[in-house]
Amino acid sequence: MRKPFIAGNWKMHKTIAEAVALVNALRPLVADIQTVDIAVCPPFTALQSVADALKGSNIAVGAQNMFWEEEGAYTGEISPLMLKELVTYVIIGHSERRKYFGETDETVNRKVKAALTHDLLPIICVGEVLEEREAGKTAEVVRRQVLGAYQDISAEQAVKTTIAYEPVWAIGTGRAATPSDADKVIWDVIRGTLAQLYDDQVAQTIRVQYGGSVKPANIASFMEQPNVDGALVGGASLKADTFAEIIRIAAEVRG
Ligand code: PEP
Repeated sequence: MRKPFIAGNWKMHKTIAEAVALVNALRPLVADIQTVDIAVCPPFTALQSVADALKGSNIAVGAQNMFWEEEGAYTGEISPLMLKELVTYVIIGHSERRKYFGETDETVNRKVKAALTHDLLPIICVGEVLEEREAGKTAEVVRRQVLGAYQDISAEQAVKTTIAYEPVWAIGTGRAATPSDADKVIWDVIRGTLAQLYDDQVAQTIRVQYGGSVKPANIASFMEQPNVDGALVGGASLKADTFAEIIRIAAEVRG
């Protein structure tokens, strides 16, 4: 059985003070929830303060990105060794990084490998853009992204990863995918590709979240899908009460 996993991607939001206020408000609202894994992914600048504020809680911390080298002349980058002291998870290959910062399936793969080498748990983002969807290329694109991300990753390592299926046209638009469409892509394409790369057991073990305009009003319908193991939540994770509501509903449906 895959344990549901709800993670909040704060993107480029929250100063240190705002970040600490958010997690201080969130912590008591979800303190009793044991059946869902919970994480918040603040910007780098707030990681230390958020990690301190969440010590001893049931909320894990993740980063939103990472470079693959351990150290060196890479101005502006953050290494797995630096993150390892602070976080459990790291989001890799978010569509905004692919779109604005030139990330490719190859760089995603290097980052996934580096994260796993250093015992960080990657949340690997995949998903088609609108033109690809309209051209009937969703399966082709998502399959290519999954094959790219997992190149030369062993089965033992693969089971430590999470995939976030995030149709790009659904991110931040208020227009979520239909739950059955998301479930179908996850089953047919993502688990199908993982089964080919590894085997059925690995394909059934890796958690796959849905992401894209998730909110309290629609999370139940996603959690009711057999292949959706939680959500990567952007905008709706920026308020403690809204994010807590999403987590509580996820626990009620699938906890
Ligand atoms: C995201 O940033 O990964 C995301 C899914 O954003 P939103 O929930 O705002 O659509």
